[in-house]
Amino acid sequence: MGESKFLRMHPELEVTRLRPERRVGLVVVLTGYGKGKTSSAVGMVVRACGHGMRVLMIQFMKGDIFSGEWDGIGKMRCDVELIPAGMGFCGIQGNPFTHAVHRQAARDALRMAREKISTGAYDMVVLDEVNNAINLKLLDLDGVLELLRSKPPLMHLVLTGRDAEQSIIDLADTVSEVREVKHAFRKDIEPQPGIDY
Ligand code: ATP
Ligand code: MG
Repeated sequence: MGESKFLRMHPELEVTRLRPERRVGLVVVLTGYGKGKTSSAVGMVVRACGHGMRVLMIQFMKGDIFSGEWDGIGKMRCDVELIPAGMGFCGIQGNPFTHAVHRQAARDALRMAREKISTGAYDMVVLDEVNNAINLKLLDLDGVLELLRSKPPLMHLVLTGRDAEQSIIDLADTVSEVREVKHAFRKDIEPQPGIDY
């Protein structure tokens, strides 16, 4: 990859590009009740894009409310496929679909993830909100665990969502629990573009 075109404050500094001696495909879990799980995953997608990596991001449950990353990632002109594969949040007020419909959508999304991963065409795969899909019994835990165990060894796999299962945490390499210290929501401030979606 050529020299970065990014404007730097100190252009006289030479930029080092680290190269790991040993490449490892990590399993990263972002869980907890605070804000920042999906946005952290999107942050890693941006980084991967900068390294010229091929990325797949499948969003469980999401699909009915526009979120900035859908277009933002497209505008980056990167090798990133982002697929909102859900039918909206299952069980929340106003969502018209039955549990069975949500379950079918989640199972289809997991099958798609499995098929796409098996092509070996990705350096990083993000399964956004997959933990919530498991908690809501839209996905069987065993199917997700199988995916973790059988992933290509050099492919990074990022899983987000509240209440990650202990068995997923046990298989993961890096796990962060985002803790809510404050959230604007508690002051009745509605979700804001760029921050919340
Ligand atoms: P983000 O997508 O902003 O990184 P997240 O993935 O950590 O958030 P989710 O549980 O997926 O959080 O919830 C998504 C939406 O709910 C976001 O708009 C986020 O700001 C909001 N949210 C996150 N945590 C809380 C909370 N503790 N109370 C209320 N709303 C929250
Ligand atoms: Mg999220």
